[in-house]
Amino acid sequence: MMNRRPILDGHVDTLQPFYLSNRTRRSFFQKSDTGHIDLPRARSAGWGGGFFSIFVPAPTPSIMESTGGVKQDIRAPRGDFMKPIEFPYALEMAKAGMECLFALEDESEGGLKVVRKSVEIQSALEEDRIVAILHFEGAEAVDPGLDSLGGFYTKGLRSVGIVWSRPNDFGYGVDLRGQGSPDQGPGLTQAGKELVKACNRLGILIDLSHLNEKGFWDVEKISSAPLVATHSCAHGLSPSPRNLTDRQLDAIRGTEGVVGINFSVRFLRRDGETIPETPLSELVRHFTYVAERIGVDHIAIGSDFDGTTIPIEIGDVTGLPKLMEALQRSGFDQEDLAKISYKNWIRILSATWR
Ligand SMILES: [Zn+2]
Repeated sequence: MMNRRPILDGHVDTLQPFYLSNRTRRSFFQKSDTGHIDLPRARSAGWGGGFFSIFVPAPTPSIMESTGGVKQDIRAPRGDFMKPIEFPYALEMAKAGMECLFALEDESEGGLKVVRKSVEIQSALEEDRIVAILHFEGAEAVDPGLDSLGGFYTKGLRSVGIVWSRPNDFGYGVDLRGQGSPDQGPGLTQAGKELVKACNRLGILIDLSHLNEKGFWDVEKISSAPLVATHSCAHGLSPSPRNLTDRQLDAIRGTEGVVGINFSVRFLRRDGETIPETPLSELVRHFTYVAERIGVDHIAIGSDFDGTTIPIEIGDVTGLPKLMEALQRSGFDQEDLAKISYKNWIRILSATWR
């Protein structure tokens, strides 16, 4: 057994600067004071890795002008960032993201490992390697006939968010601006329902974060796997459409699933404002609320590091020990903290992967 308590994380956008050219480039292997995660800071914080998201930003005119087709500007024209995107472009971007992850793995000389089996997670953590779970945030790079899914699985894809906050061939995401109900738009398309079944067959985790409520209930009906939202918070505390209602939380418990709590201040605060000075206690409140509602076996971490504005009290990955201390002060015991930190994610992945 591990002599310390590593942290597995349900969602990080740390890969993005490495395949999106407009982002400030920094080395994953050198300690930086920008962004939230690099290898030295991860190690010093006991961050053991987690779901590395591959996200396809909306194409913009600057992408069309650029060479090679994979030089991107994540800021689409105002309002356009939630429009559907084309499959060939999404495929090219997702391939760039995957190549980027495998290049980091090679360059890390064992420091970072892309895991494909749940037993590999435990051993990688024991060997002090950072665990990387390949995750698509939105399934735009998968063709609606699902012919490409098996190939992605072979390469290492182990987690798929059916949608990001935009419609695609499979379903409808929630608008992440403003507040309101996650009950926006229709349920999964026929292709979306087939995607759920195919993920069940292959043993790919289906991520419900960003999916609208009708889509959520479709997955609940169809899927044979535990329900998982990798990076969401409690709608009862912060009424963002990105957060989970009490009924959704109950359904997650009903399938022995898990919620990774998101650190984004917009999803923590009742007013939904982007205020970095939001106190750490707001984040702790979501852990307490979800644990009281559905139990500590169904709660984990889904930081959204490198993808959002988080409380300055956390700052970056090195602020995680502060969160753990705050959780302990609010009544979680050592076993609870081990479940929240990594045991629940390992249990879910063992139950979901082949
Ligand atoms: Zn997200």
